[in-house]
Amino acid sequence: MVSPPVCTPAEPPSGAFLLSAALRARGFDAVLLDLSLEFYMGIFEREGAGQVSKALELLRGRRGGFTPQTHRTACGFLHGSLVEESRRTGWRTTLMDLEPPTGSHSPSRILQICEEGSAPFQDLYERALDPVLDELKPREILVSVSYLSQLAGAIDAIRHIARRGIATRAGGSLLNSLRETGEGAGELGRVLGRLEYGDGGSLAGTAPGEAMLNRLRWPLTAGRTDYISPRPVVPFAISTGCFWNRCLFCPDRTQPFRKIGPDALVSLMEDAPGEIVSAGPVIHLLDSALAPGYLDEALPSLRRSGAAFYGFARPSRDILSGDLLERAAESGCAMLQYGVESADRKLLETFDKGIDPDTASEVVRRTAGLGIRTYCYFLFGLPGEGPASRVGTMDFIERNAADIDYANISIFNLPVNCELTERAGEFGIRPVRRLQGDDRIRLYLPFTTSGESPRHEVRRFLAGAKASRPGLRSVLTRTPRWFRAAHLAMLEIDGRRSVLDPRFED
Ligand code: SF4
Repeated sequence: MVSPPVCTPAEPPSGAFLLSAALRARGFDAVLLDLSLEFYMGIFEREGAGQVSKALELLRGRRGGFTPQTHRTACGFLHGSLVEESRRTGWRTTLMDLEPPTGSHSPSRILQICEEGSAPFQDLYERALDPVLDELKPREILVSVSYLSQLAGAIDAIRHIARRGIATRAGGSLLNSLRETGEGAGELGRVLGRLEYGDGGSLAGTAPGEAMLNRLRWPLTAGRTDYISPRPVVPFAISTGCFWNRCLFCPDRTQPFRKIGPDALVSLMEDAPGEIVSAGPVIHLLDSALAPGYLDEALPSLRRSGAAFYGFARPSRDILSGDLLERAAESGCAMLQYGVESADRKLLETFDKGIDPDTASEVVRRTAGLGIRTYCYFLFGLPGEGPASRVGTMDFIERNAADIDYANISIFNLPVNCELTERAGEFGIRPVRRLQGDDRIRLYLPFTTSGESPRHEVRRFLAGAKASRPGLRSVLTRTPRWFRAAHLAMLEIDGRRSVLDPRFED
């Protein structure tokens, strides 16, 4: 199982990690090789001892003081090294993206530049892939593509593996999403060869309807696993799909909502290598939204694992019920990510978010009061959002700034595949459809409302707010630009529970 460059070097690639774990629990030797981590470390280690190596020590928790300020400085050194690499190769390289000179959206143009030999991976193959292939002699390689940032790496890796005479299949969540949209998906088979859609159940021969993630064992790994993180991060989910499944602009509503039994977590963690357990792992719950009832059921297993955890929850009344949040905090909850979106009640109702701003504010306050970090997501530029509505959402952030540890401020994009796009006319939205012969991949559609694109106006508004709103500025200064959720859950913040417990210090 190969995860191509690039995805975050802070944690194992979740899709590939869990599929390897599910296959191993079913008796298959599916060995995970994270070529993305190898790619980044190849660049950073070329620098030798110096600022980059000190930055890595800090980001791995070996220097103490893992705070938003030191994090920003350390990331600055890594970023500087990647800027140099981008200049050298012509491929724009950051801590979460790798973009070929052709851009990332045209599979056929990416294939063309790979065929011309200008992809920057030859050294990576010689150093990290070929020795593993020589040793393991795999019968087949599954190349897991979860993000657009991995597409060019996947195309080139598949070509390299094929030259060595080994069969490949490409799978992963990006391919599943593109199959839903149909936008550019036709090109994928041509550039990636054999494709594997779905959750990987067909590889293991599971019965239809059986959830792959219900049985897990710690995956076998090849190559390095020294992720850039103070604590090892373990991907897991207590459900697939979304229990709410109603937001009109959500592109992820096709997957059925299913529970993953707490036993899967127990067997995964019981099987974890000693060095992971003794280093104080942090579980990354991948659920679209933690269902309060399922979270409640999973808390004893999470607590027993001894790990901290973080994930997405909905800022609605049900997370406040009883003492669920208190027990979550006591069971190791380090951070909850809340999709607050907007403070305009009418907009939230229109798009069937099922949350209201007053409750969201109460949820965020109570979560922070329990020492759980809060990471809030705001969405500006929803169709129908006027100037007053935008200002209202900014006022919400100002009022709650002391309880919002981190914020993600984004501008609405219209997903190709969602109910809102199907009902665009009802909301005065005019999506711009693709031109014939355009083979580019698209997960989002350009659109206009009342003949204009709201994105420009929203961009101007946000630039003004960032300059004039002190609460917003303090939240954004605290929010790291790179590494995102895994590191955010571990940063030391006044008033929040420490994840970097001294008992795990090495
Ligand atoms: S809560 Fe999130 S995952 Fe669930 S439907 Fe809404 S946007 Fe989608």
